Amino acid sequence: MSILHILNEKGRDVVTAEPAQSLADVVAVLADHRIGAVVVVERGAVQGILSERDIIHSLSAHGTDALKKSVRDCMTPKVITCSPTDTIHDVMQKMTAGRFRHVPVMENGRLMGIISIGDVVKRRIQEVESEANSIRDYIATA
Ligand code: AMP
Repeated sequence: MSILHILNEKGRDVVTAEPAQSLADVVAVLADHRIGAVVVVERGAVQGILSERDIIHSLSAHGTDALKKSVRDCMTPKVITCSPTDTIHDVMQKMTAGRFRHVPVMENGRLMGIISIGDVVKRRIQEVESEANSIRDYIATA
């Protein structure tokens, strides 16, 4: 199953933040949208990614003062992305190798969606169930 297939099902909305925003702003955004990460965008260009894990690290290092820090200071600037033609397997490998749970989808330098580990696990379970059903049908009719 391709990433495009997943985006067609789940939609292409990506929640973003700007580098100058505070962590307190992003905490509110993550809670409002019930998500774990925002893509950091400035003037249409991806500058980084900030997940709940970055906020926890910052809180651990700076206490509640962390909430006043800027997104720029706490984000991961080198973002690993995927393309809509990648497969779920490709993205699972990226998540496993990089130990992260979010992968923005880019096409021609443009942000067109985001895949979370929840999206990957959901579709992978569907694939495995469908394969098992096919094998069961084959055995039953052979
Ligand atoms: P996560 O598991 O997605 O909450 O992220 C764990 C760590 O990896 C955090 O420091 C994130 O900023 C970073 N991270 C998340 N997604 C990506 C990505 N696609 N590329 C690079 N770093 C990422």
